[in-house]
Amino acid sequence: MPALWDLPDFDAHESVHLFDDLKTGLRAIIAIHSTHLGPAAGGTRFWHYADTQLALTDALRLSRGMSYKNAMAGLAAGGGKAVILANPAKTKAQDMLDAFARAVDSLGGRYITAQDVGMSEADMVALSANTRHVAGLPGQGGDPGPYTARGVYLGIKAAAKRAFGSDDVTGLHIAIQGVGSVGGGAARYLAADGAKLTLADVDTARAEALADELGAQTVASDTVMAVEADILSPCALGAILTEASVSALRVKAVAGGANNQLATIAQGRQLAERGIVYAPDYVINAGGIINVLRQIDGADDAAINARIDSIPGRLHQIWDESEASGATPAEVADRIAQRLIGR
Ligand code: NAD
Repeated sequence: MPALWDLPDFDAHESVHLFDDLKTGLRAIIAIHSTHLGPAAGGTRFWHYADTQLALTDALRLSRGMSYKNAMAGLAAGGGKAVILANPAKTKAQDMLDAFARAVDSLGGRYITAQDVGMSEADMVALSANTRHVAGLPGQGGDPGPYTARGVYLGIKAAAKRAFGSDDVTGLHIAIQGVGSVGGGAARYLAADGAKLTLADVDTARAEALADELGAQTVASDTVMAVEADILSPCALGAILTEASVSALRVKAVAGGANNQLATIAQGRQLAERGIVYAPDYVINAGGIINVLRQIDGADDAAINARIDSIPGRLHQIWDESEASGATPAEVADRIAQRLIGR
């Protein structure tokens, strides 16, 4: 096994902390990619990994991702991430959570945790008994979905402007993959503006109920990527933009809330070569983290809304720089983020 520094995903992390608590069985990693802009903030993932190497890779990738996302959202926060290595049954004992909270606390505020896969709001409340470095507690941010949805809606309007010359979505045909918290919220904003919507969800009853409410149509979830429309908004899974699916796209823009939409960096190039406007995922979907991290600088609702309102401007900056440099929007976003974190 290569040394930590030589791992492909190490990317000059400021520090990586391994915790092993014999008494409670806690095994956790806290990766701090950057504190250049402020305390490293990012959620805790509670997950069963087949081996510790996979857990470390996940922590490193997610932590770097948070550095870029927080920087691009204009937050006074760096990037970090924690993973707790769960047993196969994913048993979550209280004393283990307490030990994890003490681990977070031992970093003295260099890392601020929040919810991620496998961790509930109740778990965050439990952690807060042993550390104050927890974001998104009830009454201090709460459900990020509606904020992400509003940012995605504004990002879709920006993509409309880039692709069609106006951010007025009235009459534009927008296909949405996944109508949960983010996709469903964005759909409501778009419908109110008079967009024509095609909705798809593996939960077909959910898609149909929303379509009835909004006067939209539905398609099967395995066909939505190839629907002929103006804009596709992926709001379900990651890695959905593959070589095959990008070849089959019949839209002029892709702008949605799902994380890690590009299967590989090559799909960013493929989209550009096909003349399809792409909104980098971690820029357009930052509304939730903007709200969750409100405690970092005590932002009120007006400040949160102003930060979310700046998402279209950032996207236009990325597209302008992409056009000028020939780099893809995804590459440009990474470069801007790296500049912001002093790399
Ligand atoms: P959600 O669970 O509320 O909704 C996701 C929906 O997608 C569900 O209705 C599910 O049935 C559907 N779905 C799953 N697989 C699908 C498929 N193959 N085809 C069509 N539909 C499918 O989740 P969410 O909070 O709306 O998040 C959606 C995406 O946005 C995820 O990728 C998430 O990581 C990302 N994201 C969410 C937030 C947030 O604030 N909630 C923030 C940033 C990014």
